[in-house]
Amino acid sequence: MDEITQKFIAKKFSEYYKTVELWTPPEFEKREFGFIPFGGGMMIRHRAFQSKIELQNYLQRTAPAHAYHSSAYYQNPSASTMNEKRWQGADLIFDLDVDHIDTPCKQVHDSWSCRCGYVGKGIKPEKCPKCGGTKFSELNWLCDECLTAIKKEALKLIYEFLLNDFGFKENDLSVNFSGARGYHIHVRSKSVRELSQVGRREIVDYIRAEGLFPEFHGLRKDKGRIVGPKLTDPGWRGKLAKVALEFLAQATIEDLKQLPEIGEKSAAKIIENKARIIKALKEGYWDALPVRSSSHFWLNLLKIGAVKLGGEIDQPVTADVKRLIRLPTTIHGKTSFRATQISINKLEGFDPLSEAVVFGKKEISVQINEAPKFRLGEEIFGPFKNEKVVLPEAAAMFLICRGVAKLNGKTNI
Ligand SMILES: [Zn+2]
Ligand SMILES: [Zn+2]
Repeated sequence: MDEITQKFIAKKFSEYYKTVELWTPPEFEKREFGFIPFGGGMMIRHRAFQSKIELQNYLQRTAPAHAYHSSAYYQNPSASTMNEKRWQGADLIFDLDVDHIDTPCKQVHDSWSCRCGYVGKGIKPEKCPKCGGTKFSELNWLCDECLTAIKKEALKLIYEFLLNDFGFKENDLSVNFSGARGYHIHVRSKSVRELSQVGRREIVDYIRAEGLFPEFHGLRKDKGRIVGPKLTDPGWRGKLAKVALEFLAQATIEDLKQLPEIGEKSAAKIIENKARIIKALKEGYWDALPVRSSSHFWLNLLKIGAVKLGGEIDQPVTADVKRLIRLPTTIHGKTSFRATQISINKLEGFDPLSEAVVFGKKEISVQINEAPKFRLGEEIFGPFKNEKVVLPEAAAMFLICRGVAKLNGKTNI
């Protein structure tokens, strides 16, 4: 980012922090804070503040690109080593990011390139197909489809796992749009506060269905029939029944043929008998399939369903008891959107592309390298390629923060 553009952004962020009603985490004085300045550079960590005003003044003065707080509570949050900090527990945090979900739109709006020059579309591979390298630079975009996909995961995590299976209360949870491509769910409950890393990992494994064996969840042979869990069963049992039913209800011949042991003929037969199979399944009988060894079929089906239902959770974030997480009500420097708190009953209808937008309609002239079509609020912008455009401030700030545009001349400041 050039100096003039950077100054402009800093000024706009600073103005925001001057008047915003800043949110701060409970037991504020026990939290560590961290910041990343614009223009790269190291994260400034191990900061602590005595009051909200002091933090707000700091944000206004420094206008950082990113601001974080610790999920952990410390006796000495500003100490520079973990030993001196004296850890006193941590919230349980889930970081859901669309980075891990293979939405079809990524083939259109995301790309990656390897140092060897190889360029690809969609999610970056583990290894470069040309040189085997593992370091890539990525160009990610955020679109409605991606944001809806990750919201669905957040809703599933909240309702099916945290509230239902774990029995947390809505008051224990705080739900935040991250400001970019995901959601952060914070669980603040005495029951999780002192959980170890291993304990947190166990929770993640449960939610992701890691090491799940359906035969330990009621799928078995009984008097020559295959019986399985029912929809009304608690925990993963009920979820397995749901996965199987949902998959079958929507499955096409092509979907079924992806499963082992299912050829064209069996797939057609399953589709033909769908209603009967689903009825039996609802009664707890899992053997109504016209395939030779149906228990094997179910196991494989559930493996597919289980991963999908498990939700895409960034494991290290939850297990890491000293991690910093974005401070709600601060601005995300890669989008100019606000990290936004959402009450659980509003999540389903939440539209990040209007409700998290901070900046307004004042017109600004920018020079844009390249940007796909995007929506902000009711308005659609782009696509743009190597052009000078006058845009409302919100759209201009978004493109500048995405790193694809710069201010066009000094006149705007
Ligand atoms: Zn390569
Ligand atoms: Zn997308």
